[in-house]
Amino acid sequence: MAIQTLDKEVVIIGSGPAGLTAAIYSARANLKPLLIDAPVDAHKQTAPGGQLMITTDVENYPGFSEGIQGPDLMVEFRKQAERFGTDFLEEWITEVDLSERPFILRTENYIINAQTLIIATGASAKWLGIPGEAKVPDGFGGHGVSACATCDGPLPAFRNKTLVVVGGELTLENADLTWSEAAKFYEAPFQMKSNGGTLVIDDFGRQRVAPQDLLNRWIVPLERRVDYLALHTGKKIEVPFEQLVVFSTNLDEKDLADQAFLRRMGYRARVEPPTARAYTEIFKRQAYNRGIQCDEPALNHVLNKYRIEHRQMKGCEPRDLLDRITDICLFDGHSLALSPEVIDVAWRNYFGASHSFAPVATQETMIERTLADPLEL
Ligand SMILES: Cc1cc2nc3c(=O)[nH]c(=O)nc-3n(C[C@H](O)[C@H](O)[C@H](O)COP(=O)(O)OP(=O)(O)OC[C@H]3O[C@@H](n4cnc5c(N)ncnc54)[C@H](O)[C@@H]3O)c2cc1C
Repeated sequence: MAIQTLDKEVVIIGSGPAGLTAAIYSARANLKPLLIDAPVDAHKQTAPGGQLMITTDVENYPGFSEGIQGPDLMVEFRKQAERFGTDFLEEWITEVDLSERPFILRTENYIINAQTLIIATGASAKWLGIPGEAKVPDGFGGHGVSACATCDGPLPAFRNKTLVVVGGELTLENADLTWSEAAKFYEAPFQMKSNGGTLVIDDFGRQRVAPQDLLNRWIVPLERRVDYLALHTGKKIEVPFEQLVVFSTNLDEKDLADQAFLRRMGYRARVEPPTARAYTEIFKRQAYNRGIQCDEPALNHVLNKYRIEHRQMKGCEPRDLLDRITDICLFDGHSLALSPEVIDVAWRNYFGASHSFAPVATQETMIERTLADPLEL
């Protein structure tokens, strides 16, 4: 199609509520507006009518005492703008030149000269791109998952329900009451939310709050068995702090807390890495669970690799290595078996490139010399 040129008194970009409102006013003033909006594009999430086209209940628009569906509302807006003589064009405005009048707007098929330009291009939500955001039945879009908390928060589906805001990481503020002006209630700290259950703080030391700060926050409640939470008015309330606290960390305790805190912790137990004997037992059981036969030469091969690399054994490693061994056998179409070759591939794959993907001569030499009693490593 050849590029067409249009000359217009008033051009409005965007047919959402703002654009259509501008169209109603300028059309009623006899300015014969041209309203331009991008065509439907599922990927870019555009539709003539704007964001309310992807909305269900709209409850806050005056004049609809029972609420109205978003697309129905936009149909009414559009009819009203049409009634006074608005022209519509479905095109993406790709370029505007506002340096002089008339302003020049370009689309794929048109050049539009506009004496007056009203830009009402609105916004679009930044979705996370995860499957649950899709509309029902594929996801929970419109049924709990929304991109507009202030629009959807007061809907019946959410009324009188606890509002849980996801995202972010553990901060010291989460250990206290947080007041939401919008929701008009306090969100309990995580230790209270887990009341009667279990609170697991994973990745201790990798949260935004430093471990020392979190432990310092709890030192007094741990001792007194009560905590004090601050209301937004400044008033403090006393709440029970009856917890059984178990810290399990591989961080050095000296870097975590001082002696005063450690005394309040009660019992402390250090769990050492497994001995070769314990490691062997774990490996055998993991292999048995997977239906993999675990003979002495295969075990010697694994244990010898630890010795060659002076590598500390860890209790999780038999499971992880056997997971890889299983995947490799399935991928190659072999029956599940612990051959030295498969163990070597799984080992390199698990422990990574830092230990060189290419077999090193000295390693091979040492692998040959398997220990007489690998359990005595
Ligand atoms: C899921 C959802 C639920 C909502 N629920 C409510 C509610 O219940 N109550 C409430 O008050 N608000 C609600 N909102 C917010 C409300 O939809 C927006 O505030 C309102 O749509 C903004 O209107 P607007 O005209 O400024 O822009 P939009 O509605 O965003 O319209 C802008 C239009 O401009 C077009 N456009 C943009 N760039 C170009 C271009 N270059 N060329 C051509 N066209 C272009 C777009 O395609 C779009 O159609 C909700 C929003 C969403 C997403």
